[in-house]
Amino acid sequence: MKTAVVTGGAKGIGRAIALKFAKNGVNVVVNYLSTDPKELVAEIEGLGVGALAVKADVSDFAQAEELINQAKEKFGSVDYLVNNAGITRDGLILKMKEDDFDAVVNTNLKGAFNTIRHASGIMLKQKSGAIVNIASVVGLTGNAGQANYSASKAGLVGLTKSVAKELGSRGITANCVAPGFIETDMTDTLPEAVKKSILDSVSLRRYGKPEEVADLVYFIANCAYMTGQVVAIDGGMS
Ligand code: NAP
Repeated sequence: MKTAVVTGGAKGIGRAIALKFAKNGVNVVVNYLSTDPKELVAEIEGLGVGALAVKADVSDFAQAEELINQAKEKFGSVDYLVNNAGITRDGLILKMKEDDFDAVVNTNLKGAFNTIRHASGIMLKQKSGAIVNIASVVGLTGNAGQANYSASKAGLVGLTKSVAKELGSRGITANCVAPGFIETDMTDTLPEAVKKSILDSVSLRRYGKPEEVADLVYFIANCAYMTGQVVAIDGGMS
């Protein structure tokens, strides 16, 4: 049985990804920071696969190492790594606080480096593995008020493409998924006027669902001859 590690897996898009892998017979390691994943773990186990909840701040190198080590110890392999954990701290560049830049880059970009850094050794020994990093359409287009977030997501694209080149010869893939506006807690806090203006730029005229992103992540994670790619799932925004 294969094993997936999903960072920030307790809610939103990460939760949908965790359930998608579980429904397809994959053990799931649900990483979380503040959302209690107890019920999700029970739901995953109810699907007949193993589940392990690991509290870890992915922006911390040592905690990310512990997360990957616990996954390997419990299930014996790390076959899929989905770097989904992410935060926003929006603000215009003129007024953006240094802390807000650092926090976003440390979680969204360095967090992915930290887990890949520790999982890659395991995947190299296995001579197999699939890494999927959750970027964002604004990492490709930029977005006013999100210089920190857009930079972190654009950085993920470069990280992914480099990792794909380094690990490809051992049968390991690395790809990015770039969602547009998906209905989760992250987007729920936006003012109605902003939501409305975003919707006007979406060809399909609706927001995406976490499950729709999860379907794509699972598909890409199992595309053995695809690596170093960025696939947008944004209803036609970009
Ligand atoms: P969300 O509901 O706010 O979930 C964010 C997740 O990240 C939570 O599970 C949270 O864990 C986790 N997290 C945050 N900081 C962490 C840290 N330091 N260590 C470990 N976990 C951490 O947001 P979402 O919309 O599902 O976002 C998931 C991913 O999709 C993010 O990378 C986001 O940038 C990306 N994305 C979202 C959208 C969108 O429209 N929603 C669009 C493009 C990209 P806890 O709850 O346990 O603290």
